[in-house]
Amino acid sequence: MMPFEKCPVCGSEMIEKEVEKLLRGGNNTAVLKVHAEVCLRCGERLYSQETVRKFEEIRAKLEHQDTAGFQPLGKSFQVV
Ligand SMILES: [Zn+2]
Repeated sequence: MMPFEKCPVCGSEMIEKEVEKLLRGGNNTAVLKVHAEVCLRCGERLYSQETVRKFEEIRAKLEHQDTAGFQPLGKSFQVV
């Protein structure tokens, strides 16, 4: 199912984990929990194609302010 068993960056073992992913579209951001393969050594994350497609869908919705199905989660700030 996953394309990599070893980390493509450092060659270490990868484990499946639930991670938080921050997505940005336009000025909007969304946080979602997804499964990823995470490298035990360098922290590289790999997502399945299905997950990557989901990211793209959500980014497009954020860009178009189409956030009716999303739950508000506090405010986002930019610190410069
Ligand atoms: Zn690695």
